[in-house]
Amino acid sequence: MLAVAVGLYSIRKKKIIYPKFVLFMLYLFYSPTKWVFSAFSMNDLLVDEILVEIQNSIYLEKFKKQDERKVILLPQCLRSSDCHARCDPLYGFICTKCGRCDIGEIQKEAEIRDFKVFVVPGSSFVKKIFKEYKPTSCIGVACPVELSESMQKTSVIPSQGVYLINDGCFETRVNVGEVVEKMDLVFPINADSSGDGSSGSGRYILPTLYDFENEGGGS
Ligand code: SF4
Repeated sequence: MLAVAVGLYSIRKKKIIYPKFVLFMLYLFYSPTKWVFSAFSMNDLLVDEILVEIQNSIYLEKFKKQDERKVILLPQCLRSSDCHARCDPLYGFICTKCGRCDIGEIQKEAEIRDFKVFVVPGSSFVKKIFKEYKPTSCIGVACPVELSESMQKTSVIPSQGVYLINDGCFETRVNVGEVVEKMDLVFPINADSSGDGSSGSGRYILPTLYDFENEGGGS
């Protein structure tokens, strides 16, 4: 509980103190801590949120410096129930930006900013993507429980987590602006960008997932 208290204090003050201690203790005593929260009718998601916020803070500076092979991992529950995206056995759902869910919007913003989006049906896909694509940084979107777990597993690269607005594993939503803010930590673009890939800094769109596939998986 001391780690929880330190974590909460850090988040409130926006100054992370003893981050390694808090992470170590909370991951080590994750289940008992959640149990204590539940037993006292407290929101046990707070434990996950502390873990995510501390990791966001720890990895922030390294994340900002990664300028290649940046990925966004989105859960498939964000898809519309009327989604016709094909599921690739290696890279997950291939979004066609039909506009029925938040994924299409994120995909468009990501292409401008040279992030590659993967819509993953499960954790086994994340392993495959890490093996095949070898990302150097990552933005993950999920519910707090999934995020705290997956950020621990992907701690080999700097990552940033964004929570879903609602959970329920079906037609979930995310604040697209929050995901774009995370992308802009690395690569801020002019607000008047035309969206055709040419920004004020003269950057251009690097190959998308579709190009990557056509090249034979980038290996
Ligand atoms: S925007 Fe993409 S993921 Fe969403 S419903 Fe359309 S094809 Fe499916």
